[in-house]
Amino acid sequence: MRFRILFFICVVHTLAFSQARPLPGPDVAQIYQRLLPQIEKIPIFDHHAHPGFYDDSDVDAMAAPPGGSALLRERDDNPELIAAAKALFGYPYDDLSPEHAKWLINKKAELRKSRGQAYFSDIFDQLNIEQGVANRAMMADYLDPKRFVWVFFADSFMWPFNNQHEAARNPDEAVYIPLQGKMLRRWMQQEGINKLPANFNDYLAFVTRTLEDNQKKGAIAQKFEVAYFRSLKFSDPSREQAETVYRKYSAGGIPGEPEYRIFQDYTFRYLIREGGRLHLPVHIHTAAVIGDYFNMSEGNIFNLENILHDPRYLNTTFVLIHGGYPYERQAIWLATAKNIYLDSSLMEVVMYPSAMKDTLKQWLETFPDKITFGTDAFPYNETLGAEESYWLGVQTSRTALAAALAEMISEGEVSEMQALQMARGYLHDNAVAIYGGKVH
Ligand SMILES: [Zn+2]
Repeated sequence: MRFRILFFICVVHTLAFSQARPLPGPDVAQIYQRLLPQIEKIPIFDHHAHPGFYDDSDVDAMAAPPGGSALLRERDDNPELIAAAKALFGYPYDDLSPEHAKWLINKKAELRKSRGQAYFSDIFDQLNIEQGVANRAMMADYLDPKRFVWVFFADSFMWPFNNQHEAARNPDEAVYIPLQGKMLRRWMQQEGINKLPANFNDYLAFVTRTLEDNQKKGAIAQKFEVAYFRSLKFSDPSREQAETVYRKYSAGGIPGEPEYRIFQDYTFRYLIREGGRLHLPVHIHTAAVIGDYFNMSEGNIFNLENILHDPRYLNTTFVLIHGGYPYERQAIWLATAKNIYLDSSLMEVVMYPSAMKDTLKQWLETFPDKITFGTDAFPYNETLGAEESYWLGVQTSRTALAAALAEMISEGEVSEMQALQMARGYLHDNAVAIYGGKVH
């Protein structure tokens, strides 16, 4: 209570009951310069990333289809990548020509050998990331479990039947869907079964056992990237309806799309309900990123609204990964429910700091306690590795955050103390609070 009174006095003192202004004052650059070093000192919790080496296929449960348009900032000629290589590895050149890039590839290989499990922890130390999510098919023994916490993929439970028809929809699905089959077989192997159970009850028991065992192995959440494979609109079929489909196709036969969807919609709801019971938060990918055939209208975050705002799932914590980008400004309104959070990963790699500043400002002005930081670091190729994408995500978010808060302070919206509290929330505290002491 005493703290609250002190806080109140301080706020009153700084803001002096003034009306917020529509334009920042001439002090905004100065405030930015003052905030940035303080923000850099805040230890980060990275809520979403795929740490790993380029040659490790377990960094995701799916893979990028060939082709696809590369975003401007993800192209090899992005000059920021040179800055990243200099900052992280002491890269001595000013371009990434193939001969020079070889220096970087060799340097990383040498460090990978000499540093072993400390290799990625060293990157974290350099960037002041205390701990981070490893959203991977399986964990890697080269990631230090003290620094990396596992989030596994739960989509494959929705694709247990003959997927021939599903994979034939377009060239993207031809890559994605067989990998779901592969992931499911790995879970079956983990649970010691070599074919689908004959009845639906036993199938659901296998699903639950996998979730529980993954949790015992240290997983803190389950992740869905289902928006790449089908619509995010889930109907509400009965158990009997799902069971009928299971009985018909578990031993063979190719289900048509409407039947498959009934089974998937029921199974998805089963998984998120289990997520509530087991305190295993649900991470859902909500943005277009890779491939040529991502369906923008079906993958739109607002298709999830009937699930997110259904009081039956109030015990399940949802983290909307990538903040619904490019609909992030509307998506923040989904966080009205207490169990819903938005994660900014990927957005700060797609957007440059100036655009990210505007997004963060709007989020901070709406629900500052419901937003979390993530990098979506990923080993794109041998030069643009997870290492460089960690750097890009952290640098962009810190500078955009400092700029957003500097404007908010200068415009008389918040005090400097409140602003730094918001910064700690976004970069660390908001996400850490979700996991009840399992992360720090
Ligand atoms: Zn990701």
